Amino acid sequence: MSRDGAVVHWFRRDLRVRDNTSLARAARDGDGVVTVFVLDDHYGSDPNVGPSRFRFLRESLEELAASVGRRGGRLLLRRGPAAEALPALLAEAGAKAVYANAEIGPYPEERDAAVHDALAARGASLRLFQDALLVDPDRVATERGDPYTVYTPFARRWTAEEKAPPLPEPASLAGPHRGLASVPIERVGAWRDLPADPKAPRGGESEAFRLLEQFAAGPIERYPDERNFPARAGTSRLSPHLHFGTISARTLHARAMEESRSASGRTAGRKWISELAWREFYHSVLHHFPRVARESFRRELDGLAWRSDREGLDAWKRGETGYPLVDAAMRELSTTNWMHNRARMVVASFLTKDLHVHWREGERWFEHELADADQANNNGGWQWAAGTGTDAAPYFRIFSPVLQSRRFDPDGAYIRRFLPALARVPDARIHEPWTMSPAEQDAFGCRIGRDYPAPIVDHSAERRVALDLWEAIKKGA
Ligand code: FAD
Repeated sequence: MSRDGAVVHWFRRDLRVRDNTSLARAARDGDGVVTVFVLDDHYGSDPNVGPSRFRFLRESLEELAASVGRRGGRLLLRRGPAAEALPALLAEAGAKAVYANAEIGPYPEERDAAVHDALAARGASLRLFQDALLVDPDRVATERGDPYTVYTPFARRWTAEEKAPPLPEPASLAGPHRGLASVPIERVGAWRDLPADPKAPRGGESEAFRLLEQFAAGPIERYPDERNFPARAGTSRLSPHLHFGTISARTLHARAMEESRSASGRTAGRKWISELAWREFYHSVLHHFPRVARESFRRELDGLAWRSDREGLDAWKRGETGYPLVDAAMRELSTTNWMHNRARMVVASFLTKDLHVHWREGERWFEHELADADQANNNGGWQWAAGTGTDAAPYFRIFSPVLQSRRFDPDGAYIRRFLPALARVPDARIHEPWTMSPAEQDAFGCRIGRDYPAPIVDHSAERRVALDLWEAIKKGA
């Protein structure tokens, strides 16, 4: 502990005051705390960051600024790069240390190394805390000390590790912030003309707690049965909040443990925790194998004859493939900036196995569109579905968009919600509307080719093509 002036807490993907390791430690260790968010180039100029993440970030920062203010502090907003903004702030505030919660991924790790060096050159320090994950990824290793590359043994080992309970929040965030400059949020270029979107996930710590309470009040009990049905409100929708850290994984885990203590909630609480473990698994993969950000975990699969099918890719993005479940999911993405997990698996399989387009194209589109776009989870999800990653689905497991639709959206409620053109098509035909006769198409107000597209590919034929492409790789052809 250094009673050596104030400590700066640098907010990044931990936009909350409750249960925040670095913030609590900064408040405890310093003679006052100065809080800052640095708007770096990643947000300013990266074309892959779409408006929904910006909106979520802005809403979260606005609430955070108010919460910090209520505790006697002030949230400063500074322009990056962080390696310049932070040394300048330390000099102005008379502080010697920056505390922050560690982030996994090539970009944040490089940024933090640059900040570390810039601070060290001025006799100051950057201290990072493990906070985003329930278990430090370096602790979950095989007997030989290697990282796991398969989920099930990872999860077994991860489950056995003790999980810390949420921390008490700091009593005061007061510090020497008077006179320190801050950029007004509404003047930040990308935020200036950002329209509100009531359909997109809403940011902020209180919204995260509202979602958690809503989920814990009912849906959690039905989670094992309902989580796979995209038309039902069966999952928590907390993913953007976990990404931006408006709620901590510890808080979620503690709530799930509470649930799992009752006889009726045991299976459900554990099932939900096992999904949190997927998040930790993919973060561990990115931490130990940062190359997955650039290439397939199984490198040889980048050599598969992926196609550059611009038209197919665009039809997929617009939700015009002619396969209703795929299209409904892609419309859910474009209209709400979120997509159900089952739907993500189906559209990812379609892009990579039916259109034979490289998973990186899909990853990039998700990164742009999703409010919860998260490098570790997105990359892990795409490589799983494409069959190129750690613990990937076997290559011969190719999702049929029609069978998935019949099974997980049996009455077509999800399809009808996002594809009004199919609203009157009966359940028996909604999964394969192209099988309707011309008379049926007229009767149900949906002409194939006019109101809704014919399938852009034949799934059975493309399934065969995908299998052949994989066989060729296996044989080293
Ligand atoms: P819940 O079912 O309530 O689960 C709680 C939390 O557990 C989630 O918020 C999430 O943090 C974590 N989780 C659940 N399932 C998974 C999973 N399969 N992998 C990793 N973590 C999981 N998740 C993201 O957070 N960001 C992404 O960019 C992302 N991209 C994906 C891309 C593809 C192709 C696939 C197949 C999955 C992707 N996922 C991603 C994982 C998953 O779809 C979402 O986390 C989940 O749908 C979020 O909904 P929820 O919060 O209601 O989840």
